[in-house]
Amino acid sequence: MRIAAIRTYLLKAPTKSAFYSSQGLFSGRKSLIVEIVTEDGISGWGEGGQYGPAEPVIACIRDAFAPRLIGADPRTPAKHWESLYSSYRDFGTRGPYIEALSALDIAMWDLAGKSYGVPISTLLGGAYRDEVTAYGTGFYYPADGPTAVDPGRLRAEADSKLDAGFTAMKGKIGLLPVRDDMRRMEAIREAVGDDVALMVDSNHAYNLATARTVAAELGRLDFRWFEEPVPPEDKASYRALRDTSPVPVAGGEAEFTRYGFAELIGAGCVDVAQPDLAVAGGISEWQKIHTIAQVAGVTVIPHIWGSGVALAAALQVLAATPPNPYTAMTVPLQNEPVLEFDTTDNPLRRDLLTDPITLQQGRVAVPATPGLGVTVDRDVLSRFDVLETAAV
Ligand SMILES: [Mg+2]
Repeated sequence: MRIAAIRTYLLKAPTKSAFYSSQGLFSGRKSLIVEIVTEDGISGWGEGGQYGPAEPVIACIRDAFAPRLIGADPRTPAKHWESLYSSYRDFGTRGPYIEALSALDIAMWDLAGKSYGVPISTLLGGAYRDEVTAYGTGFYYPADGPTAVDPGRLRAEADSKLDAGFTAMKGKIGLLPVRDDMRRMEAIREAVGDDVALMVDSNHAYNLATARTVAAELGRLDFRWFEEPVPPEDKASYRALRDTSPVPVAGGEAEFTRYGFAELIGAGCVDVAQPDLAVAGGISEWQKIHTIAQVAGVTVIPHIWGSGVALAAALQVLAATPPNPYTAMTVPLQNEPVLEFDTTDNPLRRDLLTDPITLQQGRVAVPATPGLGVTVDRDVLSRFDVLETAAV
C-alpha cells in the first residue's frame, strides 16, 4: 500500500442559531478534513484543528508534510509521526504543524485498519466496549441575550437532554459574573435532579482566586468536573486549584503532544486530561498521552468539537481505553471513559457521514467496520468545501 495523493478540504457550514461560548461568538462551524488516497484508490480520512484558522494547517500539510509522505506506506503511522515531527521540531512543536500531523495521522490509521480489515480499536490492542456512554455538551449562551440569566431556557434544554437519554451533561460558565453563572448552574441542577452527572467548562475564564470561589460553589452543587478553570499556560494556578478544589479539575484541549501532556500531568494540574485527537497529534500521540496519564492515575477523556470524522476517531480510541482503574464494576465517569457529544447544531457532524454517528438513549455505538468505520459522503463534502481542493 502506497500513498498516491493527499487532499485537503476546508468545510464551512452555517448553524441554525448563533451562540456564545465562554469566550466568543459561534455563528458557523468549520472543519479541516484530509483525505489520503492510495495507489489502489483507497481513501483514508482525518481531521485537524478546531477553533483557529485552518489555512496555516493546510499550508503545513501541503508544503511540509505531504511531499514527504507521497509514495510511503501509510500503515506505519507512528513511524511517520516521529519522522515528520523531528523534521520540523525547531519551530513546529505546537499549533498548526501538530494539527496538520494530527489529521494525517488519523487518516493513516484509517488506511491501516482498512488494509488489515479491522477497526482501529483492534490495532490499538483491542476494544473494551462496543458502545460508550455520552455526555451532552451544551448550555451555551444564546446570541440574542448572552448576559441574561434565563432559568426557563436552561430548564428546557435540560429537559431535551433528559429526553435524549443523557445521564451526564456539561454546561458553560465564564461569560457572566460568577454569581449569575452559578444561578444558571443551580437552574440546571434543579432541572435534572441529583442522579444526573453535571460538569462545567469555563474555557479558562478565571484567575486562581475566582476559580477557587467557583469550585466551592460547584462542589455544593455536586458537579463532577471543572474544565479549563484557568489559562492553560498557568500550570501553577492549575496545580494550586487542584490541591484544594472539591470537584475534579479537567483540561488539555489546548495542549499538544506527549511533551505538553507530560508537563500538564507531571505538574499535577488535572484529574481529567482532555487531548483533542485533531489537535494534540492524532491517534499515535493519543497512545503516548494515555500512557503518561495512566501512570499518574489521571483519567483521559478526549475533547471533541469537530465533524463526524473527529468523532469517529475519538470513538475508536475510547473503545480501546481501559477503565481507570481496571475493575470488576465499571461505572461511567467514575472509572469508565465517556464520549463528549456536542449537542449544538453542526451539519458537519450530522451530515458528513453516510451513516451518521448517533445517540441511542444516551449511548453511542462504536463503528465496527474497518478503520474509522465511517464513510464520508462526497456530495456533502463538496457542498461545504470552500477551497479549491488542494491535492499533492
Ligand atoms: Mg472545553
